[in-house]
Amino acid sequence: MPVTAVEACETRELFDQYYFCPSAVCVNKEKRRAIFERLRAAMPAPTTELEYETPFQLLVAVILSAQATDVSVNKATDKLFERAGSPQAIRDLGEQGLKAYIKSIGLFNTKARNIIKTCEMLLEQHDGQVPADRKALEALPGVGRKTANVILNTAFGVPTIAVDTHIYRVSNRTGLAPGKNVRQVEDKLERVVDDEFKQDAHHWLILHGRYTCTARNPQCGNCVIRDLCEFRHKIPA
Ligand code: SF4
Repeated sequence: MPVTAVEACETRELFDQYYFCPSAVCVNKEKRRAIFERLRAAMPAPTTELEYETPFQLLVAVILSAQATDVSVNKATDKLFERAGSPQAIRDLGEQGLKAYIKSIGLFNTKARNIIKTCEMLLEQHDGQVPADRKALEALPGVGRKTANVILNTAFGVPTIAVDTHIYRVSNRTGLAPGKNVRQVEDKLERVVDDEFKQDAHHWLILHGRYTCTARNPQCGNCVIRDLCEFRHKIPA
């Protein structure tokens, strides 16, 4: 039986080298364009899998999604938003009331505290609206650069590319935008991705990483960009 890459990795360092293995080369402009054309053909209307109806609900869902699956977040917000879907309503629930809805999600104590404080700031400083501004978003508790990028992109149509673990992995493996940390990858994607692909790049890469270029068993045999990808450890078809 062949030894899988994960079994062959004896140390965390080797594991990281394998799973996030930066390609030796950065793909060229033509290949990069072809990669996005194929991802677009495969996913013509990509979007988030988080369920929401307003920018505020998306903000709450994204805060909850840190180190949690979209499925688990949707399960919790389905009931939460039915009861309390606005900053005022969630603030009225209070921290303990909110916890009752999100206790199945990891780090729910911290997330509940941040969401309540965020609701208070939205009510006091932004008339209860989510600001379409990076600085104002990042000033909200529980909102970092990645969350701000998701909100700007998905709620307000700004062509930002939020880099999460999936996008970090895919960008490194394929050679699209190799980088040692998420900020390096984000900056590189920002520089090299053609404008026509920027709005949807975040969702194409995240969905590709979630369902095809998975961390442990990338589906290289079924991958639409296999011949364009520079990953040195592709799984044989
Ligand atoms: S060929 Fe394999 S490593 Fe490359 S993008 Fe596709 S699934 Fe990922």
